[in-house]
Amino acid sequence: MQKQISKNHSIVKQNYDWKSQLQSRITTPEDLLQYLPGLPGSQIFKDLYQNVDEFKQLMSHLSSAFRFAVTPYYLGLANPESDRCPILLQILPQKSELKDQVFTRPDPLAEEAHGAVPGLTHRYPDRALWYLSHNCAVYCRFCMRKRKVSRAESVTGRENDEPVFNYIESHKEIKEVILSGGDPLSLSDDTLHSLLIRLKKIEHLSSIRIHTRMPVTLPQRFNETLCAILRESYPVTLVTHFNHPVELTEEAAAAVRNLRMSGVMVLNQSVLLKDINDSVETQESLLLGLLKIGIKPYYLHQCDEVNGVSHFRANIQTGLKIMRDLQGRNPGIAIPRYVLDLPGGGGKVPLENDYQITEGNNTPGPGNSVKVYENWAGDPYVIIGDR
Ligand code: SF4
Repeated sequence: MQKQISKNHSIVKQNYDWKSQLQSRITTPEDLLQYLPGLPGSQIFKDLYQNVDEFKQLMSHLSSAFRFAVTPYYLGLANPESDRCPILLQILPQKSELKDQVFTRPDPLAEEAHGAVPGLTHRYPDRALWYLSHNCAVYCRFCMRKRKVSRAESVTGRENDEPVFNYIESHKEIKEVILSGGDPLSLSDDTLHSLLIRLKKIEHLSSIRIHTRMPVTLPQRFNETLCAILRESYPVTLVTHFNHPVELTEEAAAAVRNLRMSGVMVLNQSVLLKDINDSVETQESLLLGLLKIGIKPYYLHQCDEVNGVSHFRANIQTGLKIMRDLQGRNPGIAIPRYVLDLPGGGGKVPLENDYQITEGNNTPGPGNSVKVYENWAGDPYVIIGDR
């Protein structure tokens, strides 16, 4: 596990609470260079930009479409001396965001097309997705909701909560409500409290799920006040989003411990990101590290076809190879499901390796069929009589 950082930034060693962290976010190129004075001389910077002027121009050009913001805590995990620092690669804007010839759709999963009432997507019969906020502690350049995340003006106001509640209350086929965004935990404690208590009263709901990256980017958020709210709202499932083992800090572990002690089930979904976590070593370290701090790995997502993020996408063969190499060498509960969200709103499908290598009916006894499977190590095993 990473120590709380950083040799570069004394500021992150201060005991900031979550609101101070948010208020102190680094949002401009000037601030970023002040925090990371060595950045322009680093290899990663030279790979991404011709010079500081180009970097500043790109930052200002992109900020109207998708903001730049990072908490001092998360920036403190960055290491400019690393050629492929996974933190910097997730937060630094890149030229390829501007001219993506491969992925051209802002909403490839057709979430808006499945909008039921403003702020709510109802695509699967049993689940509804509520976009509670378009703010996040840190803006990730690969975000699949770039079309609206980071734009305060795009979020529906709290006056729309009532129609959303009415919709959920009148659609008894909805078993689960997923609170998402942006980051729903960017809302105030009071707002979250009243929303969760109201949801808890809806009899036909079996599950309330919160999607948040704050255990990764702002673990200070999980203080006693929030944990008391979550305890009162039991049972709540929290799905977070660690992408790299360097994000598994002592602060993150403490946040997860607080959550677990409040009766919250904590799962992780990550995205397979080119040059960031697309190796079996990195995935193994991430998955085992997650288990160690009390998080069950849930999904590994193939990167969605969102305009401006194609430079992040590792191919499916790479993902399948990683999944295969993880099998048999790691506890089963460490292995997430590798999934592809189908463009056009088709939903998730699992991406799986095929372990069956042959089929026949020549042995032993009449009519018996034979199938041969290989195990994780590539050794063949025969199954008899399975039709
Ligand atoms: S925290 Fe989630 S919603 Fe926010 S920018 Fe990152 S990926 Fe997008």
